Amino acid sequence: MAAPTEAVYLHDASLRTLTTEIVSYQPISSLSEDEQSLAKTLASDESAMTMRQTILYPQGGGQLCDTGTITGSNPESCFEVSLVRKTPDGKIIHFGKPSNSGPNSFLEGHSVIQNVDAAKRDYHSRLHTAGHIIGVAMEIVMPEMKEVKANHTPKEAGMEYEGLIYNEHKPLIQAKIDELVKQDLPVTVSWLEAGTPVYDRAKVGDGPVRIVSVGGLDQTPCGGTHVERTGLVGSINIRKITRKSGISRMSYEVAKEL
Ligand SMILES: [Zn+2]
Repeated sequence: MAAPTEAVYLHDASLRTLTTEIVSYQPISSLSEDEQSLAKTLASDESAMTMRQTILYPQGGGQLCDTGTITGSNPESCFEVSLVRKTPDGKIIHFGKPSNSGPNSFLEGHSVIQNVDAAKRDYHSRLHTAGHIIGVAMEIVMPEMKEVKANHTPKEAGMEYEGLIYNEHKPLIQAKIDELVKQDLPVTVSWLEAGTPVYDRAKVGDGPVRIVSVGGLDQTPCGGTHVERTGLVGSINIRKITRKSGISRMSYEVAKEL
């Protein structure tokens, strides 16, 4: 089994460029069936690159993946990353294609530079932090509600709760969200050692658990990328609240750019 990719974004989400080394570069069609199934949306003549480390976020946890470019030592060679996925054994695969038809200089062991599409990452991070802020606001104003699902995808972002939330609750929830943003609270990342008892251990596995906290008000296991302070999210708008089979869904949005 190949060594897992070092997920640098978990420890430093501020990096937008990183020099690292190619571990593999191959056509999608030569990957294992399971790995190919991660790239169903792409043409089979595209390629898959793995590197020792990555700063590109792979799709998951309700957050869309990053896109970006990988440039080789030869400045002519540029690989456009359109999809990043993580395998169950921790390998992070960058799918895409070279942006020119020059000679392939992406060889195992060669040094490359990763570049993240920064505007997209910032938007995704603000959407993700907004979801956590809504979670904290709900814990304060409606602590009896249990969060069951979170989606931080542009245009589809929403938080789901067991139980009924009605439109008349909206002003109270919105006011608490606005207050948390205005307070410009720090959003911090910390790690719990393997074996530390946490609620939801079954869901997060046996290893170390990454905990994201909004101003110390919550302790949420999360592998996503966040902005450093709540004020950097800008205003969060609760769009609508819908109810179905005892589950309430609050859809939300943030401005694409601050
Ligand atoms: Zn999260």
